[in-house]
Order: sequence, then C-alpha cells, then structure tokens
Amino acid sequence: MNSAPRPKSSATTRHVVSINNLSNREVETIFSVAQSFLDRLPDKSRSYRIGRSTSIASNAILASLFYEPSTRTRLSFESAMLRLGGDIITSADPATSSAAKGESLADSVRVIANYADIMVIRHPRDGAARLAAEYSPIPVINGGDGSHEHPTQTLCDIFTLKKKNKELKNLKVAISGDLKGSRTIHSFVYALARFGARIVPMPAPGMELPDHVHRRLQQEFRCKFDSGDGSIAALYHTPDEPHQPALFPGPDFEFSIKSYNSASEKVRKQKIAAVYVTRFQKERWTEKQQGYPRIDAKFLKDPKYSRASVLHPLPRVGELDASLDTDSRATYFEQAAYGVPIRMALISLLLGLEPGKTLATYEGGFNRSKFLLYDQPLPSGIRCGNHNCIVHEEKEAPYVRNKFYLMREEESAGGRLRCVYCESEMDQFVIANRKSKWYSTSTGDLAYVTQQNLKDYIVFAQEGDAIRNGYHSRRYGGSKRPRMAVGRS
Ligand SMILES: [Zn+2]
Repeated sequence: MNSAPRPKSSATTRHVVSINNLSNREVETIFSVAQSFLDRLPDKSRSYRIGRSTSIASNAILASLFYEPSTRTRLSFESAMLRLGGDIITSADPATSSAAKGESLADSVRVIANYADIMVIRHPRDGAARLAAEYSPIPVINGGDGSHEHPTQTLCDIFTLKKKNKELKNLKVAISGDLKGSRTIHSFVYALARFGARIVPMPAPGMELPDHVHRRLQQEFRCKFDSGDGSIAALYHTPDEPHQPALFPGPDFEFSIKSYNSASEKVRKQKIAAVYVTRFQKERWTEKQQGYPRIDAKFLKDPKYSRASVLHPLPRVGELDASLDTDSRATYFEQAAYGVPIRMALISLLLGLEPGKTLATYEGGFNRSKFLLYDQPLPSGIRCGNHNCIVHEEKEAPYVRNKFYLMREEESAGGRLRCVYCESEMDQFVIANRKSKWYSTSTGDLAYVTQQNLKDYIVFAQEGDAIRNGYHSRRYGGSKRPRMAVGRS
C-alpha cells in the first residue's frame, strides 16, 4: 500500500465535528443567533418553535449525507436550511448510494463539495466526520458519527438548559440511565463542565460514566468530585478560541479549589435544575440486568426535583413515562424543537450570513491542537485500537493515516495516544526511536518527544512489532540506560 496522499490544504474554512471544536464564546454566539431567529420568525402560539421562513440563505445549498438512517436529525437539518431560504440536496439511502458501490468517503466528499456550500454528515463509524472534514473545502457539520459525537444535539441540550435557567454556572444537572455508551451524554458532560454546571450522575447499574470520560473531566476540564453528594463540578473553565482544554494546573488552580470548597456546601443543598434522561438501548442491555431507571411521576415526587426540567434526546423507549408529557417539568418536546433554530444558527454562521457575527475560520477548518500531532502513513506503526474507528474502514485505507495526539502526563510520567479521528485513547504502546534504534515500553517516554524530534519517533502496538522492525529494547540492550533523544523541551 502506498502512503496516503495528503489532503490539499484549502483556503480557510470551519468544520464542527465535536462540541470541543467550539469555544465557549462561539457557543454563546450560536445561542444568540438561534434566539434571534426565534424572535424574528416566531410561532405566536409556541415560543420555542420557528414559525416562518427567511431568505438569507437563498444562494446556498446544504448537502445532507446520511450513511445510516436518522430521520429526525436529517429532517431537522433540512428544515433549518429551508427555513433559512436555502436549498438542500440529500443522500439518505446508503443502500443505493455510491458508498454501496465502494466509493470512499474521502472521494464522495470531494465530489459533493462541488455541488453544495455546506454539508452535514451522519456515519456509523467513529471519526468519520473528521475524515470527511479533512477532505472537504466547504464546512462540514457532524450529524453523529458512530459513538463519537453529535455536537448539534449537545448544542440543543445546552441551549434548552440555558433557556430554562439564566445561568449554567453551578446549575445542578442530573444525568440518568446509560452513561457508558451514550455519545450524547459524553459530549453533554464536557459541555456542562465547560460552562461550570454541576453534574450529578445517576447511572443504571453497570452503566457508569467510563473511566476515560472521568479522566478527561478531571484532567482537561478541571473537574472535581464532591464526595458529599457524588456530583462532579468544574473548578473553572477557559473560554479559549476555540476550546483548548489544559492538561496541567495553572496559577488559578489553588484559588479555584478554595472557591470550590466554599461554594460546594451551598450548591450541595440546591435542588436539581434538570434531569437528563438517556435513551434505553436494548442492544446494550442484557436480560439479566435489572433496574434500568425509569423516570415517571413517582420518581419526580422527591422534593429535590420539584423544579427540575426533564430533558431527553428522543426517541424514548419506555425509560420516560408518557404520562409525564402533561407535567409542566416535561421539556423534551421543546428541546427537540430547538434543534431547528440551533441548526439554523450554526449553518448561517458557518456560511457567514450573520452581519457582525462569525465563527473563526482556519486553514484546513480546525484550530491547531495544543497537543503534539503524531502523523504516520497507515501501514507503519500503531493503529487506532477502536475497531469502529474510520481508520479500520477498508475503503478509506488510502485516505486515512495513523494520527494521534500525544497526551503527556507530567506527574505520573505516563502517556496516552488520542486518535485524531475518533478521540479514543490508548495507554499501552511501544515508543521507538528511528535514529538510536531503541524501543521502550514505558509510555512516560512520550515526554522525550518534541516538535523538533517528532519525526524520529515511531509508535508500535506491541514489543514484537518493534523487534520485527529491527529495534532493540533499551532495557536489556546494554549496561547503561541509553538516552532516547534530547531531553525534554
Ligand atoms: Zn480512532
């Protein structure tokens, strides 16, 4: 196999494949534009519904590429574009599309980019939206990629909370059900942390937030666990452009812990402002497991929920009682309605149709990460360990690369690789140096890698791979521990 051709870097554009591609300030901009559409195009009887159309996008076309069916997401994007006065072209039937004939996503995107001004992609593979974006000269919006992300759903969830409660800071939000495998929940908790809300996990048995989400909440979003009530709260958040989480505590850290502790007692007594119910996914639940939480009138009788809005991404399958629909706390249909103004706002901002309001654009469509980027052709070295990642899709083999952010931990001297496409992480690998021909199984040795010497390193999945490629263990190679490269920068 030849090495993958590099996508041509196009003029500046902007893609949104993850909620973390957007800074807090940009999220606020999207919300203010969404609100202005609700004000300008009202439905007189329902304040949360867009009731009329405009023509600001009359010269634009949205392509919706759905590689798996999701009627509601597709229709809400298409409704948003039609409400803006734009046109849509759609490929909603994967069975008869060119993908079924074997065309790669990278090729489809480059062809379709000539037909439209913006595209939304839905795909069963994790990281597919990122790959599409890397080959697209026009803005790409992720409409859900495998179990990775669904950023417009998260925007809609946060917007709903914001509409119901003026401030997100210190807002207590309970999340119930499958916290393990739900992509909407993972994006949602990161967004809650970034806006300073307090997360109260209420998992179904065995469906707790995964370790990697916990770790990311602690290390990148500076969250702290309150042993008093089991809640998770962000110490502080950084409205960088776009959001760039920090790995190491900065000077504000001690101050934040102090203010956290004093605020903690007060917040602990607060009532729950919202209960976010996740969808019960039958395929993830075995017969033996019992007690999937069901949110009904009885559950909400507890006084701490007396003012709690009930949110659900819908569709529901029994975990949310239909008799609640007439309860004043039921907010899920309103939440679904906000999908239209939110998507209108995102589309119009990405197309530059809002005077005086913009989302930043970048060469290649993404802001540069603060983490070092390891980038090697597919045949060499380690591949993403997530088997549902787009890098494992045969059709895409000529177009994907082994790309990881190097996540270095200062204190524990450990290290992890985060796949650029699907963002899953690996904490077991073998680092090898091409110049010295040594390899090391200590992941902490990622600390030796710098921007300057990055090209000297290759990472393997296992020791055997390093040995087969002619590398020698530095542990057993000599009496003195050799240096792998120049020291830390
Ligand atoms: Zn991956």
